Amino acid sequence: MAKKLARKTTSHPSTPRARAGGPASKKTAAATKPVARKAAGKGQRQYVYFFGRQTDGGGSMKPLLGGKGANLAEMCRIGLPVPPGFTITTEVCTYYYASKRTYPPTLRSEMESGIAALEQQTGKQFGDLKNPLLVSVRSGARDSMPGMMDTILNLGLNDQTVEALATKTGNPRFAWDCYRRFVQMYGDVVLGVQKRPDEDHDPFEAVIHGLKHERHHQDIEDTRLSVDDLKELVRRFKALVKDRAGKQFPSSPWDQLLGAVGAVFGSWMNDRAMVYRRKYNIPTEWGTAVNVQAMVYGNTGENSGSGVAFTRNPANGVKEFYGEFLLNAQGEDVVAGVRTPEPVAELKKAMPKAYAELERIRQTLEKHFKDVQDFEFTIEDGFVYMLQTRNGKRTAMAALKFSVDMQKEKLIDWKTAVMRNPADQLEQLLAPVFDLAEVAKVKVIATGLPAGPGAASGKIYLNAERAVTAADRGEKVLLVRVETSPEDLRGMIAAEGILTARGGVSSHAALVARQMGKVCVCGAAAVDVDYQARTVTVDGKTYKEGDWMSIDGTIGKVYAGQVKTAPSEIVAGLIDGDEAAKKTEKYRNFHQLMKWCADATRMSVRTNADTPEQAANAVAFGAVGIGLTRTEHMFFEGDRIDAMREMILAETLEERKAALAKLLPYQRDDFAGIFRALKGYPATIRFLDPPLHEFLPHTKEQQEELAGKIRIPAARIHQRVQGLHEFNPMLGFRGCRLGIGYPEISAMQARAVFEAAAIVQKEGIKVRPEIMIPLVAFKKELDLQIEVVHQAAREVQNEQKVKLTYMVGTMIEIPRGALTADEIAQSAEFFSFGTNDLTQTALGMSRDDSGSFLPHYEELEIVKKNPFATIDASGVGQLVAIAVTKGRATRPNLKLGICGEHGGDPSSIHFFEKVGLDYVSCSPYRVPVARLAAAQAALSVKVGD
Ligand code: ADP
Ligand code: MG
Ligand code: MG
Repeated sequence: MAKKLARKTTSHPSTPRARAGGPASKKTAAATKPVARKAAGKGQRQYVYFFGRQTDGGGSMKPLLGGKGANLAEMCRIGLPVPPGFTITTEVCTYYYASKRTYPPTLRSEMESGIAALEQQTGKQFGDLKNPLLVSVRSGARDSMPGMMDTILNLGLNDQTVEALATKTGNPRFAWDCYRRFVQMYGDVVLGVQKRPDEDHDPFEAVIHGLKHERHHQDIEDTRLSVDDLKELVRRFKALVKDRAGKQFPSSPWDQLLGAVGAVFGSWMNDRAMVYRRKYNIPTEWGTAVNVQAMVYGNTGENSGSGVAFTRNPANGVKEFYGEFLLNAQGEDVVAGVRTPEPVAELKKAMPKAYAELERIRQTLEKHFKDVQDFEFTIEDGFVYMLQTRNGKRTAMAALKFSVDMQKEKLIDWKTAVMRNPADQLEQLLAPVFDLAEVAKVKVIATGLPAGPGAASGKIYLNAERAVTAADRGEKVLLVRVETSPEDLRGMIAAEGILTARGGVSSHAALVARQMGKVCVCGAAAVDVDYQARTVTVDGKTYKEGDWMSIDGTIGKVYAGQVKTAPSEIVAGLIDGDEAAKKTEKYRNFHQLMKWCADATRMSVRTNADTPEQAANAVAFGAVGIGLTRTEHMFFEGDRIDAMREMILAETLEERKAALAKLLPYQRDDFAGIFRALKGYPATIRFLDPPLHEFLPHTKEQQEELAGKIRIPAARIHQRVQGLHEFNPMLGFRGCRLGIGYPEISAMQARAVFEAAAIVQKEGIKVRPEIMIPLVAFKKELDLQIEVVHQAAREVQNEQKVKLTYMVGTMIEIPRGALTADEIAQSAEFFSFGTNDLTQTALGMSRDDSGSFLPHYEELEIVKKNPFATIDASGVGQLVAIAVTKGRATRPNLKLGICGEHGGDPSSIHFFEKVGLDYVSCSPYRVPVARLAAAQAALSVKVGD
């Protein structure tokens, strides 16, 4: 159990409440008497953790207390002003689901102790008729999670306590505003009174709208509703609840509290939460905690308010106080987009003292947490309270700038800076921006807040479902909404970019965009969205669904029509050598990060490339060689395919050799180009792999056309295509089986490699070919092919009078190959793990056919992630580990790499670091991601872990 701390209380002038002030010390702990705890006695598990005058938890206890609870405790510990409360642990959530939705028997009494502690610290009583204690009930998983139950504020109010609150504060408007909010929130999130599919608006909002028009004949601000209006709203809300939920609104504070806690735990298994967990791979077992916290009030008048802020700008990374607030409001108003908030800088004028306090808090937070914080605060009568802090979600661009800047400021060291850049987001930095010349040609139709940087052009869709359908059709989609809510998540995932008419930088749209790296412009007020008509009207012009629009999320501009994009400064600088681009901060920061990665990494990064251009791009991104060249890709270009087909259709060895002789010069030129682009880096070249029928024409017309070209009867082509038909081509006549059946094919390929090597070597460029034999299951297969390769090498070296350095190795992509790696390594000089096929063969699951069942498997969590995207470490990974151990036992200097799709996947890269591979190989534009992931792996795991 955590060490208990208590601290001195500095009470607030008007209402006594805990302010976690002063440094923690044993002395103060002794001086203040902690509340007697009833249940969590000796040997009993503690389910409730206090924070406030006594703080049980701390920032490191996120698994148990959830992110919110742990950091509330941590803020108490460092003396920040936090209203007192308690956290019900995630273990209760686990218990709840393991025990048919019931609670541990001791929970109730622990909660009673918790409420008693709040009563003691605030001087208020739960349900009291003079000075009632109100609380908020807040969910809190390890990471904040959209889809979880919304927070309930002002819990504890009923028809009697509301009058007490009104009398006590002398502010009936405030009291009834709290009550109105409470009934609305509780009715919605606990009693489930929500928008039905056939309704356009939230039913509570519809009631508010109705009353405003009935009594005021217009849409007045909520703050202008009178006491009587608010009383009427409460009455109508309760009637609505009775009607929809079929039960009376609970009036006993304890019934309210238990209902709310149950709703939080219940929401862990709702659809939205599950969708989110799947997308971000959050295990269901983690569970959520519940925080119960004494209320502070941002809605007492114009000297109060509520806001959210970042210690630095999370969109572009600039070091500035960034955020927004609303006067006379409770917290959820800021995020809900009911009113449009003002930038925090405005507080400087409105409430200079509170602003100065917030500035102080901003500094304290960064110094303590050593990372950019996203925090929520409420100002009650000029007094600032902290309600939440967490590491701020950030765009890739901001992450990069934060990390480089904070290292310069000596807040963090360079290794931490490397770790601060999420590898799977890095690709965002390489995403295109709008071409300035193109932008000049289109009209800016609206401006909003730049909430997610980047450029996106797409056809507009106004709801998530239609956006998803259109994206499935292959359209580029821009999701346009008045504001987004968690139901829109699927649509947001499918869209290139998101545009909203309402909401600020802390709106749902902005939040999600930041997290998913989506281009986003929000709060573009000029955009008038009509869901019914499925149109968007801007400045008198109407756009229909399916019309093109473009948004620039870096500057917040909306354009009519489609706009062409230009490469990012990093791509322009590295690939095109653009000098102006190299001077930009983005380029320089990226360059710094990659330098650190080079210092940290153990594995190197190669690329999968089939052309000189791809190879050159990858080298510019920092690749140190090719890990996979698929030679068959070279056979599809231009009229090479005809020579290839001639070769396949040949009936005699002579015919086949003649056709191969036509292919040889093509291959030689391709290899020479690649060797030149690599400038001395090694190139792993895989020999012909796919089944031959993939190269042949399948329709009658195509067969006749080919027959004309290569002067063979169409019937013979038809016959050969039929003859090559296989029931299961993935497991058929392919890989080294082809080279063993037709050694002359391998001989041609080997000759092409060595002739190219000789040519380029004579040009003064170092050449390091590594010939790779695919799909080897038996050592003998490899031996037969190696002999063909050596033979060609001998011939070419004699003919060309050169000495060539080369290696011959194999792909490990069949379980038998992995299991007999010790034998195979007697012949192979290197292994490259072909994890695509290894996954297919180990799982007995064809990647191309898995679409019909794998998504369901992911839903059911039979597989945690798609095994073709992230290596199945505990299954397929064992084959890799076995092959590594057995291979190196035979040949200690055996070179080991991976060239499957997994080579560019950050979590797979972590696995490859653990098993001790020498390099990973991935597509050229993934190279920076892989370099970052490899560096992070080296910094966080050890070989052999
Ligand atoms: P979320 O996880 O959606 O951010 P929170 O639990 O943080 O939900 O609550 C949302 C907002 O509700 C907070 O930012 C804060 O403004 C307000 N809030 C929560 N608890 C309290 C409280 N005890 N007193 C005043 N406001 C609160
Ligand atoms: Mg919050
Ligand atoms: Mg393969």
